[in-house]
Amino acid sequence: MNAAVAQEVQLNQNVQQFIAEQRKMLINGDWVDSASGQTIDVYNPATEEIIAHVPAGNHEDIDRAVAAARRAFEARVWMGMTPSERGRIIWKIGDLILDNLEELAQLESLDNGKPISVARVADVPLSADMFHYMAGWATKIEGDTISLSVPYAPGAQFHAYTIKEPVGVVGQIIPWNFPLLMAAWKLAPALACGCTIVLKPAEETPLSALKLGELIQEAGVPDGVVNIVTGLGEEAGGPLAAHPDVDKVAFTGSTEVGRMIVKAAAGNLKKVSLELGGKSPNIVLADADMETAIPGAANSIFFNHGQCCAAGSRLFVQENVFDKVAQGVSDVASKMKLGPGLDPSTEMGPLVSRDQFERVTGYLELGASEGARAVSGGKRRGDKGYFVEPTVLVDTKPEMKVCREEIFGPVVTATPFKDMDDALVAAANETVYGLAAGIWTKDVGKAHSLAAKLRSGTVWINCYNIFDAALPFGGYKQSGWGREMGHEVLKNYLETKSVCINLG
Ligand code: NAD
Repeated sequence: MNAAVAQEVQLNQNVQQFIAEQRKMLINGDWVDSASGQTIDVYNPATEEIIAHVPAGNHEDIDRAVAAARRAFEARVWMGMTPSERGRIIWKIGDLILDNLEELAQLESLDNGKPISVARVADVPLSADMFHYMAGWATKIEGDTISLSVPYAPGAQFHAYTIKEPVGVVGQIIPWNFPLLMAAWKLAPALACGCTIVLKPAEETPLSALKLGELIQEAGVPDGVVNIVTGLGEEAGGPLAAHPDVDKVAFTGSTEVGRMIVKAAAGNLKKVSLELGGKSPNIVLADADMETAIPGAANSIFFNHGQCCAAGSRLFVQENVFDKVAQGVSDVASKMKLGPGLDPSTEMGPLVSRDQFERVTGYLELGASEGARAVSGGKRRGDKGYFVEPTVLVDTKPEMKVCREEIFGPVVTATPFKDMDDALVAAANETVYGLAAGIWTKDVGKAHSLAAKLRSGTVWINCYNIFDAALPFGGYKQSGWGREMGHEVLKNYLETKSVCINLG
């Protein structure tokens, strides 16, 4: 890996300064230290070296941030603006993200390990898109007028209508796999709806959210509307999810922590939306165009090093093309260039952290002990940095843990099937998750009938990992509650008020 280090992009001066300075968190428009004075180390996963420090926020900081968000909400400093004023400010956040594209891409790559080439064309532009798309919704949040019959009030006349109002103070807790994009997915719709917010980024990757905080201020969002508290899950995320003055919590992360969020939220019965894990089936029928299906299947699992909730981690291939597809995906895997995210030629960077590295290599060992065979990959790459080889496992059985549990790394299990029948549908749906699925076929009839039977929130046909601010995304079953993106996400952040007037 060391040869590649020499070719890394020179860090932009602003990025150098950003990581060199002691970072602070954003509460009520001020950049502040944690109440405890403690900090968290932030690592470069390609080198395992500390690159920055951020405040270790705890319940006291969450209390301060929630109080600021509550004051801003009650003072109506944000929801009291005209929708077009709010929309213009949200749009400006999107513009500022694009103006700072290189700085944000470098921070993201440095902090998370993802290839800078990906951060430049995907993470940062998609984040800007989310604010631009949601800016348009600020002026289109509308209620209805409703005709009443009221059987017990014959002859009376009523005028009734609904108003959509912001749900209030929102706590948002996000993961490390797409740090900036997850912040954008959460903040943009909540802002469009007029909410005030306390955002808790993942402790592994807090840097781009803090930079985004600066841009949010520059765009003109009033103080206290967006507060960003860095800290550990249990110390900062827990108190935020449990806080009695938070009206709603929106969480993205593991299903395990999602359950804790639900319990914590029960105290004041705050509204909850969840984007959780997945173990998504990706189905290649024999008639598929192999020129697109093979690289598509590889991309579905290896994109972002498999650290995608929607990753196509269970590959089902019709038996007469199984060897060709398994070998083809393995060939893509073997040729992928692993290296530091900041090397522009890198195709796969390190996993995000030591924990994640140990988790994924633990699954590789477990798979081997369960009898799975690695056609490609199967082990760590190098001896420094959290690099794991892209891996294709065959000879798997449905009951193996590598087939059932979310690995969240560059590891796919490939399984043959005979026909496109109920057994295939049952195998694809045999998971507690239901986030995404893929189908590769030239037969449009087969594609639609299979799509209808898959129990998942998204089905990609002859494509995978296509995300757009306008397209709802979220899970069936234990993959979550509610949807991100599109106009569907607005439901997460709005209350409906019915107003009824007696015209008599
Ligand atoms: P995680 O659940 O451990 O952490 C996610 C966030 O929750 C972090 O900010 C963390 O600090 C916080 N957290 C941890 N413990 C907490 C607690 N007790 N109370 C409150 N907050 C707490 O997940 P992760 O390891 O950061 O991310 C990987 C997981 O996230 C995977 O399982 C993946 O599938 C899932 N994920 C899902 C989506 C989606 O859109 N559905 C997107 C990204 C990641």
